[in-house]
Amino acid sequence: MLTPTKISRPKPYLLAVEWSDGKQTTITLRTFRDECPCASCKGETIMGTTYSFGMQVMKPGKYDLVSIQTVGNYAIQADWKDGHNTGLYSWDILRRITEEFDLSPTQIEELEHQAAAEGLL
Ligand SMILES: [Zn+2]
Repeated sequence: MLTPTKISRPKPYLLAVEWSDGKQTTITLRTFRDECPCASCKGETIMGTTYSFGMQVMKPGKYDLVSIQTVGNYAIQADWKDGHNTGLYSWDILRRITEEFDLSPTQIEELEHQAAAEGLL
């Protein structure tokens, strides 16, 4: 089973994950939050239909990550500044998200320029 060997934040807005197979992935915190797998963010699948109970209102601090905790040996839990902390990212969910949204070096560079322009660095 693939497990993360290192989880870090190379930039305040980036999450980098290194995997036991040597793969290195980097996604934005925005993606990380948008892909939150909890029931209120993703909706619950009932008989094959997905219902979303999540509030779509943008709260301040939604994309500010306060901390990440390891849960047992199988997942991480993210604690967001808007108070949201029910998202449990199991290793296979995390792997899927980081593979799907993995940023290229060019994209990371563009984000850096963007962040610098917005005074976020
Ligand atoms: Zn959530």
